Amino acid sequence: MNVRETLSEMLIFLGIVSAIFLTGLVFALSFDLVYGLAAALACSLLFLFIDFRRIDWITRWLEKPSLAEIPEVSQYNSWYRVLERLRQNRIQFEKNTKKMKSRETRYRRTLSTLPDGVVLIKTGWLLDWCNEAAEKQLGIDPETDHGRSALDIFKDTPLASYLEKGDFSKALMLTFADRAVSLEIRVTVLGRKNIVLLSHDVTERERLDSVRKDFVANVSHELRTPLTVISGFLELAGAGAADGKVCMDREHFALMQDQAHRMSNLVSDLLTLSRLEQGIEEPADDEIDMDSLLRQAVEEGRAVSGGHHEITWSAQPCRLKGNEAEVRSALANLVSNAVRYTPHNGHIHVDWKDAGAGRGLVLSVADDGIGIDPKDIPRITERFYRVDKSRSRDTGGTGLGLAIVKHIMIRHGGRLEIKSTPGKGSVFSMVFPEDRKLSQS
Ligand code: ADP
Repeated sequence: MNVRETLSEMLIFLGIVSAIFLTGLVFALSFDLVYGLAAALACSLLFLFIDFRRIDWITRWLEKPSLAEIPEVSQYNSWYRVLERLRQNRIQFEKNTKKMKSRETRYRRTLSTLPDGVVLIKTGWLLDWCNEAAEKQLGIDPETDHGRSALDIFKDTPLASYLEKGDFSKALMLTFADRAVSLEIRVTVLGRKNIVLLSHDVTERERLDSVRKDFVANVSHELRTPLTVISGFLELAGAGAADGKVCMDREHFALMQDQAHRMSNLVSDLLTLSRLEQGIEEPADDEIDMDSLLRQAVEEGRAVSGGHHEITWSAQPCRLKGNEAEVRSALANLVSNAVRYTPHNGHIHVDWKDAGAGRGLVLSVADDGIGIDPKDIPRITERFYRVDKSRSRDTGGTGLGLAIVKHIMIRHGGRLEIKSTPGKGSVFSMVFPEDRKLSQS
């Protein structure tokens, strides 16, 4: 309290005392001393009554404080300082609340945009708030689930028992088989019973993990067969050599050579695929002469076919901007597949054309071979996916050809389209974006 305030307080006090004294004096002089004392007492009681009313008002106001209800009084009123302090405190409080609310809104908005799910659970497992990602990932309905017990919302799922157990030292892996989604759940306890639950979508990580495991298993399996054949013959030869005899005929050598060739093809395809997947080199923008590329691919196809198929080609006069070695290898894969999956006397046609506005540049290989079941089409570009395993291996396939073509197309900003009818034939089309077109010079 400063000097000015002390002085004004003293003035107010003196004012009250003087008012009581003067009232008493006026009454004493007008009537007699008893009246004067009675009037002074009545005046004091009036002041006391006014103060009690104010105290009562303040007590009620404190229960439901509102800035608008604080009365304006003159600074010479004995309650001026109390009411002013209340007003200032209330103004400060409302300012702080506003600030905190806007800060909270900002935090919640930030949390809402997170790709991970965030759920705030308060005492009694009551769901307080969650962001959109959590709604989607955990199937929370913001309308009906807010304020419900999290144990009820996640009832009969491993998440409810995980929460109930209360041991959050390890994350929980939650899999929703119906939606093919895997989530990693982490829980942090704040204070006594407030809980923050974080859900992170690990579907892609899990998928890649299983692809990696499958890949290693597939490669091992693909290499084991030829290695078993070769080592079997070598053992035989070794046993014969110990007896001083060489028991290995031409046929055995041919088989060993065949298997070694198969391994070498596999390793070479694996290296190609790995190089393409890592995208080590950007595809060069060669000006590819499609006429000569198609002619060469068809000649190679005829050599593979050994004259058992009729292979034709047609090409519009337009050049392609791309990596020549990669496009050549993709086309060779498709032509070789067409030969291998088309019975003798079948017809194969290779075509290059500008399909017109919005449809891109199309390099296609059509055959009237065995065709592919519609259910297998989405999977045949996966590594090692084969419709007929023995036919693929017997004809020297590695199971990686279409995966290589698909990656080459991705690197060129294009796509591989497959149309097929079982028993009638297939069309594999490499569709390049229009900006890869070069006008014929
Ligand atoms: P593969 O070395 O087994 O031929 P690919 O990746 O080239 O491996 O092809 C994957 C699978 O797609 C093949 O095993 C075969 O089942 C099927 N396929 C590919 N091309 C054709 C085609 N022209 N006609 C029928 N089926 C085909």
